[in-house]
Amino acid sequence: MTDTDRHPHPHSELDVRTAAVESLLVEKGAITSEQVDAVVEVFEQDLGPMNGARVVARAWVDDAYRQRLLTDGTAAIRELGFGGAEGNIRVVENTDAIHNVIVCTLCSCYPWPVLGLPPNWYKDFAYRSRVVREPRRVLAEMGLQLDDGVELRVWDSSAEIRYMVLPRRPPGTEELSEEQLATVVTRDGMIGVARV
Ligand code: FE
Repeated sequence: MTDTDRHPHPHSELDVRTAAVESLLVEKGAITSEQVDAVVEVFEQDLGPMNGARVVARAWVDDAYRQRLLTDGTAAIRELGFGGAEGNIRVVENTDAIHNVIVCTLCSCYPWPVLGLPPNWYKDFAYRSRVVREPRRVLAEMGLQLDDGVELRVWDSSAEIRYMVLPRRPPGTEELSEEQLATVVTRDGMIGVARV
């Protein structure tokens, strides 16, 4: 058996560097492998767009919550039990006249307490560079056609501030409960590359 057989996906340089840093920190006693596993588990199991969907559903049914969410996203998101130590989250609201989309032009900053880990295309250089230059075209290519009259706002995330889109509540959902509404909300809708 060759090494390639055992590792069908060759490790990227980043994987190798990450593994090297981890083993060094473990060796120096700064962290344990169990701590690293626990963090990974949180990212894999406790974080994900279902958290953001609950935030959006609450905002759709509770106008006071929606106001708090738009004023101080970090605090309002924490009200529902989601948050983390690093960075602030600002929520930007889609309306009939304004459509918001998020990006991190520098790397891959993302509102992970509400959306989990970013999709691969979010980290691609093509998305990061093009969505700021020609957002309307990028969104159209992703299947979202916006009317010419709609103002398009692109929000560039950083380590200090990450953005999340509050999508418009779709028509015909007046009868749905908050729990049912949460199942309607999509990750792409909260990134701003799709309608809900
Ligand atoms: Fe980043």
